[in-house]
Amino acid sequence: MWPYIPELLDRPVPRYTSYPTAAEFGPVDTGFHEAGFDDLAPGAAISLYAHIPFCEKICWYCGCNTGAANRADRLAAYIDALHMEIETVAARLGNQRPVTQLAFGGGSPNAIDPVDFVRLLDHILIAFDAFDARLSIELDPRSLTTEWTALLGRAGVSHASLGVQTFDAELQARIGRIQPAESIERAVNGLRDNGVGSLNFDLMYGLPGQTSGKLAATLEQAVAMKPDRIALFGYAHLPASIPRQRQIDASDMPDGRSRFEMAGLGFSMLTAAGYKPVGFDHFALADDPLTLACEAGTMRRNFQGFTDDSSEALIGLGASSISSFPDRLVQNQKNSGRYRVLASANSLASERGIIRSAADRRRGSVIEKLLCTGRADISTVDVSIATHMLLDRFCKLGLIEQNGELIVITADGRPYSRTIASLFDSYLYAKEERFSQAV
Ligand code: SF4
Repeated sequence: MWPYIPELLDRPVPRYTSYPTAAEFGPVDTGFHEAGFDDLAPGAAISLYAHIPFCEKICWYCGCNTGAANRADRLAAYIDALHMEIETVAARLGNQRPVTQLAFGGGSPNAIDPVDFVRLLDHILIAFDAFDARLSIELDPRSLTTEWTALLGRAGVSHASLGVQTFDAELQARIGRIQPAESIERAVNGLRDNGVGSLNFDLMYGLPGQTSGKLAATLEQAVAMKPDRIALFGYAHLPASIPRQRQIDASDMPDGRSRFEMAGLGFSMLTAAGYKPVGFDHFALADDPLTLACEAGTMRRNFQGFTDDSSEALIGLGASSISSFPDRLVQNQKNSGRYRVLASANSLASERGIIRSAADRRRGSVIEKLLCTGRADISTVDVSIATHMLLDRFCKLGLIEQNGELIVITADGRPYSRTIASLFDSYLYAKEERFSQAV
């Protein structure tokens, strides 16, 4: 259905969960981090993200900053440090700001003891006065106990994202994530029975040995469980930068055309099943808040992907978490040992970051609009002659329409959204090899 133009997809492009992307960050000190808090408008709404970098079992394909939850002393020390950081950041922010959203991610937040989770949640709610925030969490269904589902319901968690990836047993073995369909079904039923009303499934295409038939079978099983949202990601095989992926036999990885066809198959099957496409790789039911935000043109993109959250700042807590302030991005220490040392000394735990210049913010807005709404007014940014020539080429290929300064991605252009957005990324060209294929 979509035209396949391989040369437009071969060029690696970022996923643009921020602009500039994390690849551009440089070393920063805590003063840089503090200035981010100082510049926040009084009373501006914020969102919070807490990172739990542990999982009970590590999946071979995973590119997240996470490690095995097999040492109780390490977990306890990390959680203690997180409590200290909550105090440090809350003192900086004050509790006069509405917190619209509180997300726990990782890793797998359910790799820690449920009692430790409740203590963390209580501490954050009190320290930031976040009692009205919407709560969401990423979960590993393999280790989701009935104790966990009950407590998430009681805590008022409204949205949970489950790592599903594939229902195919052979593919699961090949990517180091054995997960029978019954464990997903148990997790879904347990969460819904306890009032966690909104669920997302993460699925993947482009896995080694995966065929369109296997993907179709997984999509059918997923749709039968009626998650509110489905994120369908292309697997990025980058063993040079993600060492755990070296365990994966990549000898029969789907080629570019097969990946492209799988992305198209996912789009056709999910839209036929009643899901609305939101952004370039997410699907949601028609009445889901993300669909409504997408249709209203208010959907945003941040480090957690597509969101209907419109807060001015997203404050990250925990190792490797990224805070997004209006004029700067700051990432905490990635190494959990160094993070613990800093946070435990009542210090901000920043390691890297970047100032977002006014030009960056304008370019970031164009990129975000293209990815979230499929259209953007480019009159706010300087467009080089080379970019104009590329835009002309995309127009002739029928992938965009250009009306004056308005760029609109066409239905045929949807799989090229990231490539089209990247035309406005002034940092990209020297660094292409760091990113994944656009489909
Ligand atoms: S459970 Fe999720 S975060 Fe943990 S290793 Fe697997 S994919 Fe990565």
